[in-house]
Amino acid sequence: MKCETCYAELVVKRADCYHYAESGLSNVYLSGIEVEDCPNGHGESPRIPRILELHELIADAVCLKPSPLTGAEARFLRKELGMKAKDWAAYLHIDAATLSRWENGEQAIVPMSDVFLRTSFLLLRASQNGVALRDDLREKMTAIAQQQEEQAMIVNSSKKKRAVSFRPLSEMAYA
Ligand SMILES: [Zn+2]
Repeated sequence: MKCETCYAELVVKRADCYHYAESGLSNVYLSGIEVEDCPNGHGESPRIPRILELHELIADAVCLKPSPLTGAEARFLRKELGMKAKDWAAYLHIDAATLSRWENGEQAIVPMSDVFLRTSFLLLRASQNGVALRDDLREKMTAIAQQQEEQAMIVNSSKKKRAVSFRPLSEMAYA
């Protein structure tokens, strides 16, 4: 592979804390992946196999994370369902302007709406995929702490089976 800017041969490196901003979320980090890096400083891009499966896992992590949903995460869930904003707003019985303010971070998502968004996502996705809802859902939803500090989601992508762990976002500045 060559750099699209200078055509230099890209160097493949291992990355253990790749900030995956391409996901549309600011708090997702990938560990154990390979990145292609331009030797002339034109940036790096991750090699991500099975990207749909990765995004499914991130959506799952968003739903089960212990801290409140951010607007960007609410948008990520809707896009994972492949739903337009007006259809998602209609499903949630809210007006499109409210949904837009949530997704843009202009209005806080109150705790009840937060849980409703998560469970609605999980329900719709389960019905899209024809699978049963996970049985630890009630405990996970009860454990969401609205005062808890925003969490980073770290996806270990190095093994065949991917896994997500959470860390306070403030710790990631030192990673
Ligand atoms: Zn380059």
